[in-house]
Amino acid sequence: MEKNKTIGLVAHDNMKHNLIEWVEYNWETLKNHRLVCTGTTGRLVEEAITKKMEHSKSGVENIHILKLKSGPLGGDQQLGAMISEGNIDILIFFWDPMLPQPHEVDVKALLRICVVYNVPSASNRATADFLISSPLFNGYYSPKRIDYSSYTNRKI
Ligand code: PGA
Repeated sequence: MEKNKTIGLVAHDNMKHNLIEWVEYNWETLKNHRLVCTGTTGRLVEEAITKKMEHSKSGVENIHILKLKSGPLGGDQQLGAMISEGNIDILIFFWDPMLPQPHEVDVKALLRICVVYNVPSASNRATADFLISSPLFNGYYSPKRIDYSSYTNRKI
């Protein structure tokens, strides 16, 4: 992983205020990385960071925010595909523990694929705080690649 990372950001509706608060608190760090968000989350993240920039001394700078489809319309799956291709370094995903989602299977798949590819992920704010305050967040890091060759070469 390079110093500048590609960070996935997703929050379910009831958790969006929580993620946006976290983004507002950490915007100066996040603006130095590439952000990839599901559609609605991305719109809110972009608004929040732009507002912070407008009120800062340095003014509005370019930020990299890729907005995928909305989660229930395939955005979680797009993000999962990016993870499987090695294009996401960190996932911050505030999923709702209190409300079943129409795209529950996509949510589960996204969380699973993070584990498959050893991608650091945070499902709540405390873990997100630990991740972003790690020296590895803004530094180089080589995550251990898990060897799946015995699976892919298995005899059928
Ligand atoms: P949204 O999708 O950012 O488009 O609301 C999030 C999700 O429910 O996965």
